[in-house]
Amino acid sequence: MLEARGLMVFYENMLALNNVSVRCDQHQIVGVFGANSAGKSTLMYTLSGIMEDIRRKEEMAGGERITVLGEVLFMDQDISHLKPSKRARMGIILCPERRRIFVESSVLENLRIGAYLATPAQAKETLDYVFTVFPPLARLKKRTGGFLSGGEQQMLAIGRALMAQPKILLLDEPLLGLSPLMQATLVKAIKEIRGQKRISIMVTEQYARPVLPIVDYAFILENGAAVLEGSREELLDNPDVRSAYFGV
Ligand code: ATP
Repeated sequence: MLEARGLMVFYENMLALNNVSVRCDQHQIVGVFGANSAGKSTLMYTLSGIMEDIRRKEEMAGGERITVLGEVLFMDQDISHLKPSKRARMGIILCPERRRIFVESSVLENLRIGAYLATPAQAKETLDYVFTVFPPLARLKKRTGGFLSGGEQQMLAIGRALMAQPKILLLDEPLLGLSPLMQATLVKAIKEIRGQKRISIMVTEQYARPVLPIVDYAFILENGAAVLEGSREELLDNPDVRSAYFGV
């Protein structure tokens, strides 16, 4: 469904992604695990096309030169040079790291903003769905985004991404900074979303353990390179991987 082949991303002379190939098939949940600076966000930006915007902005401002090589394919079509807005319309929706909700807008307004690609009927149906999968948001409809807890903000960020009618959802470190209880709530919701909405999901995390139970397949990034990949069972069967990445 969504695939990167031989991605290389340079920030000036610094190689942030080194020949990375990853894929997420239809209705899969795929994990991408790696330490700080491993290249997770760079990968998510490149898949969603945001990297093209960042690259162009830097170029216009006379800033650092960003070079992207390799291919991104969606449903077997080469989308490497498509703008992020086009990719979003095709159903590739990024839920970025650190949530980026509109802190001065209410929960409902944030969700409505997310519906810019939806028909009115889709928007209504998805809004109901978001309140079903994240019940706290239904109670907090009128609350200003900035006054939500970290976990509620993450629910809102995922809810807003759902409003955009994704075929594949790219979640960049959705569990960052949340309590174990909130992490478990979100992991359960992510699994439900895949099951109930039949959306494919690619999720990055620094620590694999909380999401491991729900991933079908995972890649491990180290210093910009994909050093290991396998199904959940294959990775768990590898003792080095278990101790280094899963803490089990
Ligand atoms: P984190 O978990 O800290 O978010 P990450 O795995 O998402 O890390 P990236 O943000 O993709 O990692 O960064 C990969 C490398 O590229 C890092 O060394 C980072 O400092 C560098 N980098 C990221 N963005 C830029 C940029 N705009 N200019 C220069 N270097 C950058």
